[in-house]
Amino acid sequence: MTDENKRVLLVEDNVVNQKLATMLLQQLGLTVDVVDSGQKAIQSVQKELYAMILMDCQMPEMDGFEATKAIRKLESLRGTYTPIVAVTALAMVGDKERCIAVGMDDYISKPIDRQMLKIKLNHWLQKDFVLKNQELARKYAQPETTLALEEDPIDLEELKDFYADDLQDVLATFVETTEKLLVEINQAILDHKDAQLAHMAHELKGSSASVGAKGLAKLGLYLERAAGLRDWHDAKDTFAALTSAFARVKYFLRQQHSASHEAVILPGRE
Ligand code: MN
Repeated sequence: MTDENKRVLLVEDNVVNQKLATMLLQQLGLTVDVVDSGQKAIQSVQKELYAMILMDCQMPEMDGFEATKAIRKLESLRGTYTPIVAVTALAMVGDKERCIAVGMDDYISKPIDRQMLKIKLNHWLQKDFVLKNQELARKYAQPETTLALEEDPIDLEELKDFYADDLQDVLATFVETTEKLLVEINQAILDHKDAQLAHMAHELKGSSASVGAKGLAKLGLYLERAAGLRDWHDAKDTFAALTSAFARVKYFLRQQHSASHEAVILPGRE
């Protein structure tokens, strides 16, 4: 498969499935650590940097969904990113969405098909993806906890000079249109409409740059590129980063807004 002996984490509570998956992974040239619970998966991730995690969804006590959320939280504080592929027997509509929503990157169904596993590994063990996501994880995950440590998501000082009294109005319009745009962007990704996506990503990039939201503008550019390449995995990842970056912008604006309100209200309150 690749140069070095890559280490992957297999999280699976069923002993037979553990054996089968371990065998397949070893045949593909990987080193495998096996744990049988979500709790142990978190402990392993604390100790070791894995090239990838294969995560069973159904496990007693802590399931794969909860474990993934905890791992993503841990990684966002540490600035690492490990691709997580769900291994699931579930075949209900919405399962894939649930996997993605908690922070998994992909899924594979049980029983694991060797050819399919190989395809997933080849895709998710690419270095570029991991490096890019490490960067995104550092920058955009956990908006509340990292907010104070990072630069402002919008350069308000520059804007104040430019828009003066109309600033609140401009920002309100920006938030409102971006909210709508993100809904449409999400739909274009789900429907694989690359031309529409490229156009909307371009819009987002432009309006974000206009209000000094540099992080959002950069992600808009990444998304435009992903649309051009019809790279739907990348588009999905970038969209996830975009939504958290936008949440950060809104949070920042709310803070600013309440701070300026206090300044107005407090002197009158004697
Ligand atoms: Mn299970």
